[in-house]
Amino acid sequence: MNLRDSEITKTRKRHRCVWCGMHIEIGQSAHSSAWIWEGEFQTGYFHPECWSALNRSDYTEDGWTEGEQPRGVAVDKYGDPIPDRSIPELAQA
Ligand SMILES: [Zn+2]
Repeated sequence: MNLRDSEITKTRKRHRCVWCGMHIEIGQSAHSSAWIWEGEFQTGYFHPECWSALNRSDYTEDGWTEGEQPRGVAVDKYGDPIPDRSIPELAQA
């Protein structure tokens, strides 16, 4: 999977995060991204912590089920959480 063109934006519309499935409200920051998955051009929005989780996760190679990941949580190939030390309340989840 190739991730491209990520950028932090202030959203002008409500979006659904493709990582956790929760809403990204108007005015919140987000990552707007495009990637190629199985030959298909894909675009989506991520919460900043979900973008971080994706980039820590082994799913960057293997793909993931959209909207079904815990918010801001990455897992390794064994299914164990990879904590984000920059977000203390999430690191303890
Ligand atoms: Zn999210």
